[in-house]
Amino acid sequence: MTLVPFDDRDGWIWWNGSLVPWRDARPHVLSHGLHYASAVFEGERAYNGNIFRLRDHTDRLIASGRILGFEIPWTADQIDAACQQVLTANGMTDGYLRPIAWLGSEVLGISPRGAAVQLAIAAWPWPNYYGDDRMRGIRMGEAIWKRPSPETAPTMAKCTGLYTIGSLSKRQAEDQGYSDALMLDWRGQVAETTSANIFLVIDGALHTPTPEGFLDGITRRTVMALARRHQMTVVERPIEAAEIANASEVFLAGTAAEVTAVREIGPHRYTPGRITETLMRGYDALVIRQPEEVARTIA
Ligand code: PMP
Repeated sequence: MTLVPFDDRDGWIWWNGSLVPWRDARPHVLSHGLHYASAVFEGERAYNGNIFRLRDHTDRLIASGRILGFEIPWTADQIDAACQQVLTANGMTDGYLRPIAWLGSEVLGISPRGAAVQLAIAAWPWPNYYGDDRMRGIRMGEAIWKRPSPETAPTMAKCTGLYTIGSLSKRQAEDQGYSDALMLDWRGQVAETTSANIFLVIDGALHTPTPEGFLDGITRRTVMALARRHQMTVVERPIEAAEIANASEVFLAGTAAEVTAVREIGPHRYTPGRITETLMRGYDALVIRQPEEVARTIA
């Protein structure tokens, strides 16, 4: 499959309040966001025309901007409406949305003072991140890069700068023939993958690391709520790296990954089983529901 470059596509991108032709959505090369990673973003999925947990994504986008010290000059209602508008303008009901806010080209120096906040939202069709391997389970390596401590980086923000370590780890994993990498945190405990949170089934219970130093994903929280509805025991706790040897099932949760089984992490092998399957099916059934029903289910 040949990939069409992202700047060589047709469609509409919402940018600072207007829809602009996809090809014309070009920020200046001397943008603060490009040089100093003063940028925050979201990844969202639309199913049947509804953007799953849209307000939660919008709230996180605004919160991420605040963590980086800037205020996105649009209200949550306006951002939600803009996301829906982009979807409609591109004739889509299903796909991926990418809102991104960054500091512009008014100033260029380490200090962000004086740079205006830009907001753009794009949408494109994007089937499951791991394709057919979602049920069979993906193969993961172990990253050499660690997730930093919350004292070292603004780890609760979905900010572009933090993706340097994810992107390096993903490339390393792919170079080694894997689909992704398990990332440990600065203490050597299990954190997440390069773009999703991780769950382990140990002695029949669902274990997931406490989100310290990585994103408390919206899919992660959805899966935990679904698991509890299925009377599963959900344990959120620090997980030592050595414990991955004790898991019978492992799966990932993230907007792009949805629920994806893992069959291998380095030397360890897993067989996707009942718990993974129940939660994968439960998630697939939930995302196509109307927003009110989603809210009731995860309440
Ligand atoms: N961790 C990282 C590094 C991510 O990029 C993502 C995707 N946004 C997640 C976890 C999962 O978050 P969510 O479920 O909110 O998409």
